[in-house]
Amino acid sequence: MRVEKAPVPFNDLARMDTDLRYEITEAAARVIASGWYVMGPEHKAFEQELASFIGVESAALVANGTDALVLALLALGTTSDDLVLTCANAGGYTTTACRLVGAIPVYADVDPSTHLLTAETVRAGIESAYATYGRKPSVIVVTHLYGASANITQITEWAHAQGISVVEDCAQAFGGFSGKNRLGSIADISTTSFYPTKNLGAIGDAGAIFTNRTELDTRVRSLRQYGWSTKYRTTVQGGMNSRCDELQAAILRIKLRRLDGWNARRREIHALYERALSSSTTARLLNSVEGEFVGHLAVLVVDDRESAIKIFNDHGIKTDIHYPICDHQQPTAPEGSYSLPASEYAAEHIISIPLFAELEEHETDRVAEALRAI
Ligand SMILES: *Cc1c(COP(=O)(O)O)cnc(C)c1O
Repeated sequence: MRVEKAPVPFNDLARMDTDLRYEITEAAARVIASGWYVMGPEHKAFEQELASFIGVESAALVANGTDALVLALLALGTTSDDLVLTCANAGGYTTTACRLVGAIPVYADVDPSTHLLTAETVRAGIESAYATYGRKPSVIVVTHLYGASANITQITEWAHAQGISVVEDCAQAFGGFSGKNRLGSIADISTTSFYPTKNLGAIGDAGAIFTNRTELDTRVRSLRQYGWSTKYRTTVQGGMNSRCDELQAAILRIKLRRLDGWNARRREIHALYERALSSSTTARLLNSVEGEFVGHLAVLVVDDRESAIKIFNDHGIKTDIHYPICDHQQPTAPEGSYSLPASEYAAEHIISIPLFAELEEHETDRVAEALRAI
């Protein structure tokens, strides 16, 4: 009898080791028994632990990563007159946040070798936005994509010289570094998401905002809770309700202590894939563990995507595409034409393969075997 091997899943959030599951269950029971469910002691402790982990003055928890972007933009004073420059190949979260704020998203292309914004592509994007709208974007949102760090120091220095603010979106590279600094500590204000599939994931939704600038932090804390300065006193216009609950904070505190270990395991798996693919002439892995990379996603760039997907299917390996449609080519994109060749090429030629810390050796070996077959 031929036994079919179970497919290698793209991700499996239920694979939690016994110790972790026990600690999380204990913490949840403690919170439930406490009767304090929103912005209580776990929330406060996690904000402090996050700020010291990232190396910033303050961390504010919010409901999710999209709200974090919205609140960061609002804290910077972004209004419906403003243009916000970002990339078009990062899943559209910044575009969604711009729409919620009423600002106009404008796009810069990415570097074809890294698929990240650089100071050069940003400069070109600003120039073309100026040519179209007759004014400069007031904010740049830089996404550290797939676990790789964009050159945030260089972009921020250049932007500040132009009087432009910078937001770092760390949702895909949480725990990563740029030189000696953790990502999230370099731009004016930074955001992250704790969506369950991120490197640090909640058991539900949550997000956070980091900054060293007290006035931005004060605005974020007010805006996330109705625009209150103190209870029932509304002093900031544009407030909303975007809170992280006590259960998620308690669970994330436990997981934060394990994050560097999980990120190291992700890098180890990525290194195995790199070795398996080293002699290929038709496919390459986008990132390398030689760089500052925390392995959120393992992304291949292939000449012929259809046949590569077929090879993975034949090996019983689940794949995905991050992301198949650029922001400026979405059905909801406004009129206006962009030419972003590197972003558009990426959308047609990338494949994501399984990369998460709980993958087992027999599974990563099977992925490596498929990579050698490409
Ligand atoms: C997941 C993600 C977000 C959005 O986070 P949510 O918590 O799902 O709202 C924002 N930016 C990036 C880069 C992401 O990967």
